[in-house]
Amino acid sequence: GKGIAVFTSGGDSQGMNAAVRAVVRMGIYFGCKVYFIREGYQGMIDGGEYIIEANWSSVSSIIHKGGTIIGSARCMDFKEHEGRKKAAFNLVEKGITNLVVIGGDGSLTGADLFKQEWSVLLDELLKEGKITAEQREKYKSLFIAGLVGSIDNDFCGTDMTIGTDSALHRIIEATDAIVSTAYSHQRTFIMEVMGRHCGYLAIVAALTSEADYVFVPESPPPDDWQKKLCDKLEQERNVGQRLNIIIVAEGAIDRNGQPITAEDIRKVVVDNLHQDTRITVLGHVQRGGNPSAFDRVLGSRMGAEAVMALMEADENTDPCVISLDGNQAVRLPLMECVKQTKAVAQAMVDKQWDKAVQLRGKS
Ligand code: ADP
Repeated sequence: GKGIAVFTSGGDSQGMNAAVRAVVRMGIYFGCKVYFIREGYQGMIDGGEYIIEANWSSVSSIIHKGGTIIGSARCMDFKEHEGRKKAAFNLVEKGITNLVVIGGDGSLTGADLFKQEWSVLLDELLKEGKITAEQREKYKSLFIAGLVGSIDNDFCGTDMTIGTDSALHRIIEATDAIVSTAYSHQRTFIMEVMGRHCGYLAIVAALTSEADYVFVPESPPPDDWQKKLCDKLEQERNVGQRLNIIIVAEGAIDRNGQPITAEDIRKVVVDNLHQDTRITVLGHVQRGGNPSAFDRVLGSRMGAEAVMALMEADENTDPCVISLDGNQAVRLPLMECVKQTKAVAQAMVDKQWDKAVQLRGKS
């Protein structure tokens, strides 16, 4: 059977384990030898005990766990040619020519580069006497399927990334808790949620908590936002509301591209309205905890589809990313999605917010 390896890379997210589980079981179902690579690209480079064969039961009882049981890491060495050569050697040694990478746009970019370089890497390994001519021939093609694990829902091409829904559950639990205490004490709360380039979590959090104001990176507020914010908060209090909720994405900016922080907002509210105003930064709580039903199903479907894509791949198949389109799992060209995701971030740097929103499309 074919050799398949699955690994998780970059920031973790809930639902990655469901994806790992699906890859392993689907791979075994198709008669493949399936491997875990622990600690992302670092494990691929270090080899040895970091690349271990998985069996049916090694992925039992993991679907309900948050994070990733096989570990994730950031790895500078994989950005270097020498690092990737070591990784290629370790894969050839184990007969692995199919990779399922679960990560964000950085991890997927690395995978694409690896694929492009694969034959050069093997040629070098052959020349250095590290692999045989038979190995060079037998493992001449590398196949890649990517899955997007990210709580931010910041990837172009897919409606939902693995982990976003669970992160929203964490945020909603927290806002509900905040709302009840805010009500008792007539306070104003500013909640900072994750989202460096993408305001999805902030927008949905604002909608579902009846927030009064929301700050997101891709739609900076008008220049006189301080006044608009205060007017809005005051108006709500004047009609009898006992509290105010403001949601701010960690990457929120003004129209000059300068950050708007929770502390900036607090100062505006306190200076102008003298409201008792508190900040809650949710931070890593959003990444943690058990995956929601949606993320378990999403991870499972994406993992299964990734293996099917690899089974059907031939010499001319480019790396794909498995995406959710409506309720369908679809395969899209990996690099195009990565490029578009990077173009969105660039458009925001260039203060072209309409373009950013347009480029991001449905997600
Ligand atoms: P994410 O995948 O969540 O976007 P990072 O951007 O930190 O997270 O990428 C995770 C890892 O992927 C990096 O530590 C590195 O090993 C690898 N990687 C990222 N970008 C590249 C690149 N341009 N070339 C090679 N490897 C990369």
